[in-house]
Amino acid sequence: MPNLRDLKPFNDDSIYSFLQNSDAIVSVIHSFRRHTLVKFGGSSLASSNAWQHVFDHIRRSHHNQPLIVVVSAVGKTTRALVGCVHHAAQGRLDEVEQGLNEIWATHKLIALECIQPEEWTALEDWVDHLLSKLHQEAMQMAKELLNHPSPVCSAHGDAILSLGERATSQIFQKVLENVGVPSVWVDAREVIMTDESFGAAKPNRAKIKDAMTQHHSLSSFWATLQEQPPKREIPVPVLGGFMGRSLSGSPTTLGFEGSDLTATLLAEASNAERVTIFTDVNGIMTTDPRIVPNAKHIPTLTYDEAEDLALGGARVLHPQTLVPVVEQSIPVHVRNTFQPDHPGTIIGPQRDSSAHTPFVKEWKAVAMAVTNQADDSSVLTFLHATPDGQSQLRQWSEAYALQLDVDVHGWHLHLPPLAALKSGQNSDSSLPLSLQAIHDIFFP
Ligand code: ADP
Ligand code: ASP
Ligand code: MG
Repeated sequence: MPNLRDLKPFNDDSIYSFLQNSDAIVSVIHSFRRHTLVKFGGSSLASSNAWQHVFDHIRRSHHNQPLIVVVSAVGKTTRALVGCVHHAAQGRLDEVEQGLNEIWATHKLIALECIQPEEWTALEDWVDHLLSKLHQEAMQMAKELLNHPSPVCSAHGDAILSLGERATSQIFQKVLENVGVPSVWVDAREVIMTDESFGAAKPNRAKIKDAMTQHHSLSSFWATLQEQPPKREIPVPVLGGFMGRSLSGSPTTLGFEGSDLTATLLAEASNAERVTIFTDVNGIMTTDPRIVPNAKHIPTLTYDEAEDLALGGARVLHPQTLVPVVEQSIPVHVRNTFQPDHPGTIIGPQRDSSAHTPFVKEWKAVAMAVTNQADDSSVLTFLHATPDGQSQLRQWSEAYALQLDVDVHGWHLHLPPLAALKSGQNSDSSLPLSLQAIHDIFFP
């Protein structure tokens, strides 16, 4: 296997032919100390208190293993930006302005609350400068969206949607440095190459690999990884998730929850040892714990199972998240930012069935997820229901004339609107259909 050391002593020809061959660069990277790709979701970044938890994690772990950090936009910023894009298309620029100003104010407040008051002035100047640049860009894009028939699926729409990750990642890196962790900001738009399906762009994994291995801001990261034994602390690269760029240079985004996908794409491109997705729950549960508070923790899942669950509507992961890591069997660990000692869920090639002992015997399904349909009905997906579960579902569908479909993702029961299921108030009160009730039958 080619290795930088094999090429010593360097001369211009050997370096040139080495650089010509990006496979050689990739295989050298494969011989490095391996690193972890860590992603923090918006829910892990929604306040200065949350940022402190994130800094603590980075401080604790980057000494043991080199990290590359991907951050989403703070809290619900992307949702707010979707609102701005719609306002822009309707020509309501004052509302765009107001929406943006609220987003900027949140970012500034969080940044300042993270550092000592004596350092406020310098940081405030820097943040103001960045935000006013982003604001001008946004207003320019907003003007061009007037009367656009599908503004959120356009290049200008994506340019505005990606402002959340641009602001968060740059400010986060600056503050991280300020709290004592050497770091470097890497513009994700120079790495995540995609097609031009605006709003849900498809990544070009080969181009991402090239861009990742050759990016100028990452060269010292790769070089330091190669030091044996390690001689210096490695500055932590910080990238914004969710955003990318088409080959012709237009801004793109990967779709909602796309930051999860950013992390796994970068892990594949750099042969990371693992991906850790930090969120606000203890990993993946039998269903959404915000709807069913007694949802049970799932210690391990296979790639297929986790993907099926995401496709069925579990928003804890972007449905494409696992595609890039399957080939290299890179494990994806879903953990809680706010409970660092909880083991979370490990997604990998195999499920450790012994880890399910407390309730595996009772299980009629691995997990369930629910999505809303355009007609306001909802679909409940049971992941890998066993024969017992199947017969239960069949009885329900026959007794209540509900539609039951089966496909590779599991069993899908077509149900009343999600809101009715959440509250447990259905028009036919004899139907045992609150999500809580269904959950408790399948996951006792
Ligand atoms: P982040 O900001 O970290 O990306 P999200 O809000 O996108 O976080 O995703 C985490 C949320 O996903 C949880 O708070 C939970 O409400 C929801 N969720 C839906 N289904 C599941 C599930 N099966 N397991 C865990 N969380 C789930
Ligand atoms: N910023 C987002 C992301 O993490 C988009 C979203 O909130 O879903 O991908
Ligand atoms: Mg998410």
